[in-house]
Amino acid sequence: MRGCSCAWMQEAPRWVEHQVNDLHPPGRSLCQNAHRSGGSESLSDQCHAALVKLNLLRPMEAQLKKLRQMLEKECQLSQELKNQNQDLKRQLEHKEKHLQALQERLDQLDCTTQRTSNELPKVWQGRAAVMAPEQVPEVLDITANRVQKTSSETSQIVKAIGKNDFLRRLDEEQISMMVDLMKVLDCRAGDEIIKEGTEGDSMYIVAAGELKVTQAGRDLRILSLGDMFGELAILYNCKRTASVKAISAVKLWCIERQTYRSIMTNKSKMKREQLMGFLKTARTLKALNDVQLSKIIDSMEEVRFQDNEVIVREGAEGNTFYIILKGEVLVTKKVNGQQKTIRKMGEGEHFGELALIREILRTATCTAVGVVICFSIDKEVFEETIPFESLELHDDANVSEIDEKPEKARPETSLKLKDLVPVLYQEGSYQGDPVTLGIGGFGKVELVTTLEHRKYFAMKRISKQHVVAKKQEAHILLEKKILQGIRCDFIVRLHAAFKDSRYVYMIMEFCPGGEIWTKLKEAGRFEEKIAVFITACVVEAYAYLHNKGILYRDLKPENLMLDSKGYVKLVDFGFAKELSRGEKTYSFCGTPEYISPEIIQNQGHDIAADFWSLGVLIYELLVGSPPFSSSEPQKIYAKILDGVLNFPSYMGEGAKSIISKLCRLRPGQRLGNTKNGIKDVRHHRWFNSINWHKLRMGQLEAPTVRLIRKGPCYINFDRFPYDKTQAEEEFSGWDCDF
Ligand code: ATP
Ligand code: MG
Repeated sequence: MRGCSCAWMQEAPRWVEHQVNDLHPPGRSLCQNAHRSGGSESLSDQCHAALVKLNLLRPMEAQLKKLRQMLEKECQLSQELKNQNQDLKRQLEHKEKHLQALQERLDQLDCTTQRTSNELPKVWQGRAAVMAPEQVPEVLDITANRVQKTSSETSQIVKAIGKNDFLRRLDEEQISMMVDLMKVLDCRAGDEIIKEGTEGDSMYIVAAGELKVTQAGRDLRILSLGDMFGELAILYNCKRTASVKAISAVKLWCIERQTYRSIMTNKSKMKREQLMGFLKTARTLKALNDVQLSKIIDSMEEVRFQDNEVIVREGAEGNTFYIILKGEVLVTKKVNGQQKTIRKMGEGEHFGELALIREILRTATCTAVGVVICFSIDKEVFEETIPFESLELHDDANVSEIDEKPEKARPETSLKLKDLVPVLYQEGSYQGDPVTLGIGGFGKVELVTTLEHRKYFAMKRISKQHVVAKKQEAHILLEKKILQGIRCDFIVRLHAAFKDSRYVYMIMEFCPGGEIWTKLKEAGRFEEKIAVFITACVVEAYAYLHNKGILYRDLKPENLMLDSKGYVKLVDFGFAKELSRGEKTYSFCGTPEYISPEIIQNQGHDIAADFWSLGVLIYELLVGSPPFSSSEPQKIYAKILDGVLNFPSYMGEGAKSIISKLCRLRPGQRLGNTKNGIKDVRHHRWFNSINWHKLRMGQLEAPTVRLIRKGPCYINFDRFPYDKTQAEEEFSGWDCDF
């Protein structure tokens, strides 16, 4: 429309000009014209003719004048339309921004655990909320807690579970335990089962009656027979995002988080122990220790066979080893052209172990009798997994380089809390207020300085009362303990720690370049060179941590900071954990988009979970959003468990390859967790441009340096209004070792 009117406007005046010139050529008078037309006519004849022409021309000129005026008017009108169009465009852009902000707010509300309840809002763009680790529940007496159910009640519950994106992925045994432990809850009309904003700890399935779901006073939907609600609360401690009230007499099935987690965790532990026992009976694996066997379990996959299905066929090439978890397998052999039964194998027995160590042809046929579930591993994967000591051996040399390097900054032992003064905003609407660098789940990070040292520090201030309320005492103590022992250029340094009656304080090295998250939002997505460099820094931090037996568990762009040279440092050790070799941990924690499948399934996790998040990080750096995302955490988990990666067309082959290898569903198959350990990550072709030695020595030019803005020391950070409210005092003494 706009283009159209413009074209017309440009053409029209030229056309008018042309007509006028034809009638009245420029620079020539009518008399001159008359002279040149010369010859036979008398002067009076010529004058007469000229007069006639003149009389004829006058009305035409008047008409032309009118036409010109009309055109000018049209042009004016078009210009106005053009302006209006621009106005509308601006309004539309504004509305789009507003809509985006609303969507983000909605996403934030959707995310059940609010990072902060009594603190200032954090600039948050769409990420689901983090989950703090929670104590693994005590072993539960399943028999004592079992609630009898009729078969129709059981099938009703199973059906409801089957409709849920996340729960339907549990295995049969887990579902049947869950069904057994669900309790009955009878409610009257008007009873409020879930209250918006409160913390939830149970999941419900409607067995009879109707309930109404409301959010901020708005009716959302009616729940009836077979509907499930509150299911996120069984995974972790989270705030309810809506209220649910009974509108009639209602019967509900309900299960608490502690019960659910206890089922899943204990079941996973039992399963590992059981598998360990099974593997120990395999002669080929006799020389392996528990840590190695545990690694094999991490690489194994569950496979299901239908009745009569041939699992291995005599004479065929074999490269898979199987352990029977459920069902029976018939072993037959061809003798004199006849299929002869050798024996039947049952739960815990294995077959095909020779396939793991050499090329073989199967010597018998194994067929499933009824449904059979096996745990299996291929030769290729097995070779990747064992011998896994090489992981440490290969890495020792690299890591010691970090350790042995002379320390640049000695700890500021002389630092005292009273010497630290806040740095103030020098301009803008918060001028004169102390600079807040960031707000996290448990505290605020402020920019401080010492008059004496003239050095900046980032001071993390955590409300003790909040820590106690959230039962995070042990984790905060651990965060400080872990950070205190770290000397690595790719991890933020802790210079000192203090406490008073209201807060505990961690005084850290200040990273003036800001968060990678902020830079990523500004850029949309990073070019490969930048993503490679950022990831390489994280790989170095991982090498250091994993070698010390520390699991990081909270990788995401928000926890990566830039120093003044553009080198990346890990901050926030709130979820870090010390693990001995072969040990697993079971707490459900992390940031939904970044957690690994084994954490979601309560299977127990270790450093392999960190490599999964490394794959997610590479994807997010290159694309601008993580590979598994949704506004509903449950949908994120379902996508993670599916493990399907969709790569945009602009992504390079190397990037696709490293992400796919890091985001393998089975932890034992993940790049970084196979036999060469982190060395395999460093050697991946995506990192071809990185000279690892130079990177460790700080001698590589960081491409990230151009992301850093110049100006006041806080220029690379979002601005936050100063919150003067003081936390309450807390004297329980949990922080005596802080
Ligand atoms: P979370 O909710 O992520 O667990 P948290 O309370 O543990 O948060 P941190 O992640 O440690 O807090 O810090 C919050 C923010 O403060 C960071 O994302 C970052 O913006 C800023 N910050 C933290 N440490 C530093 C530092 N050393 N230098 C500069 N800024 C920092
Ligand atoms: Mg953080």
